[in-house]
Amino acid sequence: MSSHIESFDDPRQQGKCTYTLHDTVMSAFACMYFQDPSLVQFQKRLERKYQRSNLNTLFRIKETPKDNQMKDILDTIDSECFAPVFKDYFERLRRHHHLQSFEVLPGKLLCAIDGTQYHSSKSVHCDGCLTKQHRNGEITYNHAVLQGAIMHPSQRQVIPVMPEAIKNTDGAKKQDCEMNAAKRFVKRLKKAHPRQSFIICGDGLMSKQPLIESTLAEGFSFLFMAKKDDHKYLYDWLAAYESLSSQSYTDEKDVTHQFSWQNDVPLHGGEKSIHVNYLEYRQIKKGKQTYLGSWVSDIEINKDNVIALAKAGRCRWKIENECFNSLKNQGYEVEHNYGHGHENLSYNMYLLTLLAFFYHQIFELTDGAYQQCRQEYGSKRFLWENFRVTIRYVLFDSWADLMTHLLTDHEITEEAYYRP
Ligand SMILES: [Zn+2]
Repeated sequence: MSSHIESFDDPRQQGKCTYTLHDTVMSAFACMYFQDPSLVQFQKRLERKYQRSNLNTLFRIKETPKDNQMKDILDTIDSECFAPVFKDYFERLRRHHHLQSFEVLPGKLLCAIDGTQYHSSKSVHCDGCLTKQHRNGEITYNHAVLQGAIMHPSQRQVIPVMPEAIKNTDGAKKQDCEMNAAKRFVKRLKKAHPRQSFIICGDGLMSKQPLIESTLAEGFSFLFMAKKDDHKYLYDWLAAYESLSSQSYTDEKDVTHQFSWQNDVPLHGGEKSIHVNYLEYRQIKKGKQTYLGSWVSDIEINKDNVIALAKAGRCRWKIENECFNSLKNQGYEVEHNYGHGHENLSYNMYLLTLLAFFYHQIFELTDGAYQQCRQEYGSKRFLWENFRVTIRYVLFDSWADLMTHLLTDHEITEEAYYRP
């Protein structure tokens, strides 16, 4: 991370800069990383005592700017500077074979996409803000992104990729929307990872011909949810078959999994309708239907891939649950604290939060000491609480030293810690 930031373009006049861009970005990142707004305060205290702090040792920061200076500088940084960081960490995971366990079909990674809002205000706004007029005339101003993340049904971690901002641009008559951002997103994904094969997975909103065509044009596959209300023609067409291809099994918990499919059906009744392959997945427990999902895809469905595809389609919820929910509620608090700025502040803060989340996912996937800490401390919440408290008072030379310390001096149990 630190070395990437070194290469960022600094838009400021050099003579006037008190703090380097590197130190500014890394300071903000460190706060997100430890999810601690008072991080800097405590590190200044360490610095007075030891002439060094954990910000120097763990993040290679020489001098930390004050909060408002930090925001002013972050506001000016071009958000695109962060794209190579996402790309590089993805490539490192790939090179070290950590992505293999994410393949949902041989060689193919599932990239789920969805829109999410990270800033909303009734007063502060800019030209890029999306606007929403309410019935009483009030206007809400929003910033949002189309986020993508690699996921797998049996992997707890998700791997975020560089998102696409959903924002208005000068001169455009219509507001930007999730669908247009999704088209730009697949182009960006291809450019960043030209040799990787992806299945783009999205909700019912995405199962429209223009996005399907954009996805196929990049050489990707798609797996988009299909709903009866949106695809009446398709469902009428399916109803005309006496029966669809199907198979089922019952698992050890007595849940029955039923899969049915039909290849080569038209998506809609229009003249140039694309043909898609339709898949349905039903779960039944004690005679009751507990889940029903249906998708369309370009991948030809057969007995060998139907289960993998259905489970892949179903695990799309992880982008909502494991990614957005974590960013909003699990300590990262992406919607709070940081403000709108004049140019890029809110988006850069979103990206730094996402990168901190990405780092934590990488630790869980690849770092043996971190995995050991997780096991030792039980919950993630308790482990990070210990990280935060420990670095307030003890100086460490490296992240590895911090973890060794936590593994050797571990006395308080989670239960005792949280007991009122
Ligand atoms: Zn704005």
